[in-house]
Amino acid sequence: MIKKRLVLRFPPDLIDQPITYQLVKEYDLMVNILQGTVTPHEEGRLVVEIGGERKAVEKGLAYLSRLGVELQPLARDVHWHPAKCTHCTVCVPLCPTRAFTVSRENMTVSFDKNRCIACELCVRACPYKAIEILF
Ligand code: SF4
Ligand code: SF4
Repeated sequence: MIKKRLVLRFPPDLIDQPITYQLVKEYDLMVNILQGTVTPHEEGRLVVEIGGERKAVEKGLAYLSRLGVELQPLARDVHWHPAKCTHCTVCVPLCPTRAFTVSRENMTVSFDKNRCIACELCVRACPYKAIEILF
């Protein structure tokens, strides 16, 4: 079993197609949509985690390429520096995947790297430069 995090860019003519359904049904893959923006008649963009047996993942990605979907690995890595963080919570409502959360009990912020899709919203917003992107 492997997992890949990818940014998928769909040309306008593919937006209405049940592509993720096909990946699940025909290629036996797990598709977790982490973030998506799809506007009718324009390009669509999905950040997904695709999981399954290695061969199945390869076949599924080849299927996407044949259709004309542009694939880009989510290669950037977000690093949180707890020592610099003041727990101001600015990043918490900005994060679309709830990678940053705040404990209501002690009002401390924590970061779950596995949920992060490297959208960079928090990186730009953090007033204390406690979050950085590693390439
Ligand atoms: S915005 Fe920066 S300083 Fe504030 S809670 Fe988030 S990581 Fe910490
Ligand atoms: S880059 Fe920041 S805002 Fe974007 S998903 Fe990761 S933790 Fe959340």
